[in-house]
Amino acid sequence: MEPIKIATQPAKRRRIGVLTSGGDAPGMNGAVRAVVRMAIHCDCEAYAVFEGYEGLVNGGNMIRQLHWEDVRGWLSRGGTLIGSARSKAFRERAGRLKAAKNMILKGIDALVVCGGDGSLTGADVFRAEWPALLSDLIAAGELSAEQVAPYKVLNIVGLVGSIDNDMSGTDATIGCYSSLTRICDAVDDVFDTAFSHQRGFVIEVMGRHCGWLALMSAISTGADWMFLPEMPPKDGWEDDMCDVITKNRTERGKRRTIVIVAEGAQDRHLNKISSSKIKDMLTDRLGLDTRVTILGHTQRGGAACAYDRWLSTLQGVEAVRAVLEMSPESPSPVITIRENKIMRTPLMEAVQATKDVSAKIEEMEFDEAMKLRDPEFKEYYNAYMTTAKQDDPRMLLPESQRKRIAIIHVGAPAGGMNQATRGAVAYCLTRGHTPLAIHNGFPGLCRHHADQPVSSVREVTWLDADNWVNEGGSDIGTNRTLPSSDMETTAKCFELYKFDALFVVGGFEAFTAVSELRQAREKYDAFKIPLIVLPATISNNVPGTEYSLGSDTCLNTLIEFCDAIRQSASSSRRRVFVIETQGGKSGYIATTAGLAVGAVAVYIPEEGVDIKMLSRDIDFLRDNFIRDKGANRAGKIILRNECASGTYTTQVIADMIKEEAKGRFESRAAVPGHFQQGGKPSPMDRVRAMRMSIRCMQHIEGYAGKSPDEIAADPLSTAVMGVKGSHVLFSPMGGENGLEAAETDWVRRRPKSEFWLELQDVVNVLSGRTHANKDE
Ligand code: ATP
Repeated sequence: MEPIKIATQPAKRRRIGVLTSGGDAPGMNGAVRAVVRMAIHCDCEAYAVFEGYEGLVNGGNMIRQLHWEDVRGWLSRGGTLIGSARSKAFRERAGRLKAAKNMILKGIDALVVCGGDGSLTGADVFRAEWPALLSDLIAAGELSAEQVAPYKVLNIVGLVGSIDNDMSGTDATIGCYSSLTRICDAVDDVFDTAFSHQRGFVIEVMGRHCGWLALMSAISTGADWMFLPEMPPKDGWEDDMCDVITKNRTERGKRRTIVIVAEGAQDRHLNKISSSKIKDMLTDRLGLDTRVTILGHTQRGGAACAYDRWLSTLQGVEAVRAVLEMSPESPSPVITIRENKIMRTPLMEAVQATKDVSAKIEEMEFDEAMKLRDPEFKEYYNAYMTTAKQDDPRMLLPESQRKRIAIIHVGAPAGGMNQATRGAVAYCLTRGHTPLAIHNGFPGLCRHHADQPVSSVREVTWLDADNWVNEGGSDIGTNRTLPSSDMETTAKCFELYKFDALFVVGGFEAFTAVSELRQAREKYDAFKIPLIVLPATISNNVPGTEYSLGSDTCLNTLIEFCDAIRQSASSSRRRVFVIETQGGKSGYIATTAGLAVGAVAVYIPEEGVDIKMLSRDIDFLRDNFIRDKGANRAGKIILRNECASGTYTTQVIADMIKEEAKGRFESRAAVPGHFQQGGKPSPMDRVRAMRMSIRCMQHIEGYAGKSPDEIAADPLSTAVMGVKGSHVLFSPMGGENGLEAAETDWVRRRPKSEFWLELQDVVNVLSGRTHANKDE
């Protein structure tokens, strides 16, 4: 992610308005909190416009200044606390004229709008009309020329808050992953009933024009079939669907059947495909006991997931930066995200592209509609199809290009490991490769030579893999032992099982293991095959990627823990919780969790802990508790990474705070430990596991027909698949500029340069810690 530079001195003190509009979405409160606090940090004032555009039109008490303390605790609250509405009045020019007058009367000259494409269109219309609205206000005698003079330029910045993820130009909208989490939780629960009774379930999810939620939930839950508005099934889909479901149940032995339907699902002639119609079809044609579950508004509710808290916070900060950096000529931006990079895109370009998709759907040009969606959407669609339809003969490779691909898990378990394996297996079976699971890591591989009766290298069937769709941990077993513990036997086993490629899922040990195998290629030809690492570790400390599978699951588990523990202190007690996070020598989890829960301070190994820091933080806490009054009072959180300091342990810090607080507040230490590995993987870890594992398989396929020496000569034959900024790519491990030499801090077991370090600033700015320290 691009470093976030905190502007501190704007040329002119600004009064920034913020509103939420359209359907509410989890994360909107995080965005408002970030806008308010970042604005105050930048010496501006923040005004909330209550009830969306309705508040702008009505003015008065519906536009109110928000102070630092007013947004305390908002990160964990669902919906939007400043209200949202669909305003008819704002659609009319007369309404917008009133809105302009109210803004000037309140002294607001910039507006951050968080909403869907309708809300952002409204914002752009408002900005385009602004000069004419001002002239009209003067002409009508509503305001004087002097009153209007300082407001010649109106800055608008958009934030996309919508659960549907229907805006073009951004990979994710604020709220979409929280909604996906609700859906997956519900489908996971339905799973158990479906399995027990061998039932079918048709589950309807939101999405009138956009099938993102339907597609992602179908991938995350291994649905048998799905219906999206933008990619209607081909004519004759009824037979196709019944065939696939019959095959899954009879040939593959699946006991449960799940069909996901977007509420806007339709056929190629734009006739609605309703959930009840599908249910009747499954009941009548297949005699399947089928039920319909319409998830409805439960998909909107609840607290924001970790990703939405992170996204809304960083985008809120970026929105204020954009306001302060805009010139009168610059087009209004909308804050977007591509992979891991927060960006700015011209607002109307994004809105227009979104409208173009809807227009193409209405014109029944579905392939065009699909092309206009973000490329990621098509990739996910193809990934789903790989798992759903494995017997398409057109997908099979010629015999000569089929490979024996070994899959191994190395290191500690992490959410998404099973899903990565499932994705790899699905792809292998679709293409005619043989997927071989190595059970229990490298010791498992070498077990053959210890005369064990059962080999630990086994071919995986689809039914095995399919059942891993929502399971946490590592089903095939993971192990920290490195190949160097017995390189000779490892090489023999590679030959014995005739591996053509090795797919390694795991954390820093997985990275180290492949590094060892790469270096051993000089001695052992068996290792001259593609050796590809897909990072999976809650610590997110693998060089070559900014995201590891399992880190999102861990963050979600941690924020649930922090929310609950903080709430325990909400009634009367003034309490600070010092919570110890895992992460080894990388402070990623502590920092990102700190951002997502609004921690007062985060202690990480990269920065260390010293007595001055603790003393300042205790003063800061004291001051914080004095100002902490009213409805939002709750416990405060300090996060300390397990390796942040050898001296200042979690308990020692908690004790010091207690001692120094002198009875004004108390302090407790809490260690969630292995709880952080999480239960079921988060939907983000599930879908990314699927997408990235398929990319890894495709990369491996690219080596077909190459000799061992040709493979070994290619730097990308030992590589890490990862997210870097706005790209998903493979980085070579060997060579002068490869990850091992150029980007790895081997002693501290983390990348030399960690992309997230800048986030420390954001945590400190939004908690007020930076300000407190500056005052000293
Ligand atoms: P969702 O994705 O949840 O539907 P949305 O922002 O697209 O959110 P809309 O109902 O389309 O929701 O728009 C919200 C509000 O934005 C409208 O009630 C209206 O006040 C304003 N708005 C939308 N389109 C326009 C427009 N063309 N001109 C002026 N105002 C508009």
